[in-house]
Amino acid sequence: MTEQEIESVIIDMFEQNYELLQAQGGHSLTQDTKRAALQQVLLYWRKMRDVAERVTETEVKLTLPEQQTPRGRKYSIHGVVDIVQEDERTVMYDIKTHDAEYVQANLDDYEKQLNVYAHIWQNLRGQPLDQTAIIATAYPKEVKQALNAGDEEALAEALEQWEPLVDVPFDQKHVEDVIADFSEVVDAIEDRQFTPPPVSRLGQRYKARGREKRFATQICGNCDGRFSCSSYRAYTQSNRGSDASFNRYFREFESTDQEEWLSANLEADLNI
Ligand code: SF4
Repeated sequence: MTEQEIESVIIDMFEQNYELLQAQGGHSLTQDTKRAALQQVLLYWRKMRDVAERVTETEVKLTLPEQQTPRGRKYSIHGVVDIVQEDERTVMYDIKTHDAEYVQANLDDYEKQLNVYAHIWQNLRGQPLDQTAIIATAYPKEVKQALNAGDEEALAEALEQWEPLVDVPFDQKHVEDVIADFSEVVDAIEDRQFTPPPVSRLGQRYKARGREKRFATQICGNCDGRFSCSSYRAYTQSNRGSDASFNRYFREFESTDQEEWLSANLEADLNI
């Protein structure tokens, strides 16, 4: 198969997958968002082809059953990973749609989840594991800028610089603590405790590759619930003088993209 034929198969599969998810969940994407998602899939394929072709088991379902919360609720932990087995080495990959910079900056959170999956793989399935890693599929802003400018040379250079693979330390010591954290989250959800974090958390910064980003920019900016979130609203109002997020809040809310998103979802609901 030529490169072009492979990408055309990926595009067909993307469309089929989108239609299936739309029918199952009743949610639609705007054309811009859908195009960006497809772009991410194609670039991920171009960049990670080497790993993708070596995957020996894909979408491996892992389950840790019979867990109990502090309030006595029973639950199971489910995860889906990809496995590469070659030359007597086994590597577990977890694919995330976040960018590698964010994953690096919040490695603790990803490490916890992946180590639970590693625990299930090794102890319940009795199979050895040599390495765990995250594949962060969201491409960096340099790639985005080159795409927007239609600059092929800059795109090739930005793709070369992009490193979507993030090694995650493999440590089984804290698995019990992580499962205890999950148990508390299960209780919080079942008890309907959905209060957003305090405004101070939204203003917190973290460092990644010498640059600083705020929780509000990196996380809330991508959250579908932000226009009805009291913390985000309070954050944007309290930062109206010093931060661009106040203006952005209103710009985004009034954008045609929002209109298109609403129409697409209303149509999807009518088609169910
Ligand atoms: S906007 Fe979303 S991510 Fe940000 S605090 Fe509110 S609910 Fe959480």
